[in-house]
Amino acid sequence: MRLILMGPPGAGKGTQATSVAEHFGIPAISTGDIFRANVSAGTELGVTAKQYMDAGEYVPDEVTNEMVRNRINEPDAEPGFLLDGYPRTTAQVTELDAMIVATGHRLDAAVCLTVDSEELVARLLKRALTDGRADDTEDVIRKRQEVYAAETEPLIGIYRERGILVEVDGMGEVVEVTTRVFAALDIIPES
Ligand code: AMP
Repeated sequence: MRLILMGPPGAGKGTQATSVAEHFGIPAISTGDIFRANVSAGTELGVTAKQYMDAGEYVPDEVTNEMVRNRINEPDAEPGFLLDGYPRTTAQVTELDAMIVATGHRLDAAVCLTVDSEELVARLLKRALTDGRADDTEDVIRKRQEVYAAETEPLIGIYRERGILVEVDGMGEVVEVTTRVFAALDIIPES
């Protein structure tokens, strides 16, 4: 199973990614988490990524693509993977296609979580209080929504045209959204 999980910042991608990946026994690969781990560890990649992340901008494609290529070539991703937060640009879509074709597989579905913009900002401001993420300030939150609309929203049309887009209402409680994601992917919940 090869899946991507899309949606604007604050849509709940990370939370849902964990449940879906666990169901399929595949790793949930979050580019944002990998960048944050590198920032904390003070690696060269982290130093590069931090300046973009703190400004609410995307890390350059070359850096991000290479990081994802290395990660999905790890043995645990051989049976499949769920990408959380990648691809985010049309150039990344092309790169991901090439990476998957090279392994003789295909992308099974692109799940997109939809959430009202006011709710997104409210969720991120709440997260700022609990998680203390450097990019959860009001200005940066606004910038990230703008970058998403300009760079990533067009990807929805690309996957819709391919017939693999699965749109899921991301409003409401976490468990309700998980139920919708599972239903959309035809997953029978374990009792
Ligand atoms: P996230 O945790 O998914 O909200 O990502 C946090 C930040 O990491 C983003 O605002 C970007 O600066 C960076 N980032 C994560 N994924 C990507 C990506 N696919 N392309 C470029 N930058 C990314």
